[in-house]
Amino acid sequence: MTMLPDLTKTTLALLDATDPLASKRDAFFLPDNTLYLDGNSLGAMPRVAALRAHQVLNEQWSRDLIKSWNSHQWIDLPHKVGEKIAPLLGAAPGQVICCDSTSVNLFKILSCAMLMQPGRTKILSQAGNFPTDLYMVQGLASLLGEQYCQLVLVDDSPDNHALEQAITTEIAVLLLTQVDFRSGRLLDIQRLTQRAHEQGVLVIWDLAHSAGALPIELDACHVDFAVGCGYKYLNGGPGAPAFLYAATRHHDRLTQPLTGWMGHNAPFSFATDYQKAPGIAQFLTGTPAIIAMSVLDAALTVFDNIDMQQVRYKSLALSHCFHHLVTMQPCLADLQLITPLQPSARGSQLAYQHPHAYALCQALIQRGVIADFRAPNILRLGFTPLYLRYVDIGTAVTILANIVSSQEYLKPEYAVQQKVT
Ligand SMILES: *Cc1c(COP(=O)(O)O)cnc(C)c1O
Repeated sequence: MTMLPDLTKTTLALLDATDPLASKRDAFFLPDNTLYLDGNSLGAMPRVAALRAHQVLNEQWSRDLIKSWNSHQWIDLPHKVGEKIAPLLGAAPGQVICCDSTSVNLFKILSCAMLMQPGRTKILSQAGNFPTDLYMVQGLASLLGEQYCQLVLVDDSPDNHALEQAITTEIAVLLLTQVDFRSGRLLDIQRLTQRAHEQGVLVIWDLAHSAGALPIELDACHVDFAVGCGYKYLNGGPGAPAFLYAATRHHDRLTQPLTGWMGHNAPFSFATDYQKAPGIAQFLTGTPAIIAMSVLDAALTVFDNIDMQQVRYKSLALSHCFHHLVTMQPCLADLQLITPLQPSARGSQLAYQHPHAYALCQALIQRGVIADFRAPNILRLGFTPLYLRYVDIGTAVTILANIVSSQEYLKPEYAVQQKVT
């Protein structure tokens, strides 16, 4: 992408005028006087989500009660939502299901993958991976015992050299997150999966910060397993159910440990012994959260007819404009970008280190620019192409520059740490 020499308001408005995704913004409810740069943490609310919630409560649950499992196909929702997510992941039908949280799905997948690798005991991940991913491995390791399962961590380096070197025949499972939640660094799924398979290693990709943000090709890259969130770029609402991908070629020999009745071959036979359902249904555990899953189902309709290449293009362009404008402001020289600038190496966010990152973030939020803070010193900004405009980027940087040059962020109230950052 070429540098835009003169990113004036007019230029940004022109970019909006020719943006093929511009009309998607109307599909979202966006509060007034708010620039939302945190859709990577909690996606904005699609208008259809509110309609569906109302419908499920007031037309389905209230009136049709338990009949709704059949008459409104509640029972099929985990499959239906999984199939809606599948095209965003480059997954053919029958391999994606919507259920539980990303953490719980990781536990299921990690267990399956370890059982498929007798004689190997190591799970390799990045030291900077999202903590829940590491915690789930630690939990599995303490359940199985040290002699059967150990977590091995490598430090992240921009060239992935250490990571690639650590993928050896000693490793059972490689657990990676495609886009780093702190730095926004993007890993090459194709290359790392291939490297893992050459060493007989199974791969699990966490797509929390990439599903719905950029094109993904799980089938084409021969990925074994993947998990991801419903509430980030998929806009499914706070705590929306997560998804899980398992390649068809593995289905017959998988054994997942959370053998609840919904993953049984015949849940309503109420048999004494567990017998797993065929296919992706074996990953279900308990009764799906219908209200939340219905909302996610509706939210996913905003991706109908969307070209993910266009989403990717705009995501990179928005973040490129943001950073370019930051570099044009002398007062923002203390913001240290830790996100790689080359497009092939970054996801849909920018992360800046600053000694007062927390206070800066609070001051931004106070002025209507919603970003987030990641300990110890990162100001993180997410770029969601479906509802952000180029002009919003200009406004956000102007406000940021204002807060910094006026030293407004040094007000004592901005130093008070909240529970959720
Ligand atoms: C957000 C995120 C999660 C969240 O997991 P939950 O179980 O949904 O809370 C997991 N992994 C990564 C990489 C994330 O960014």
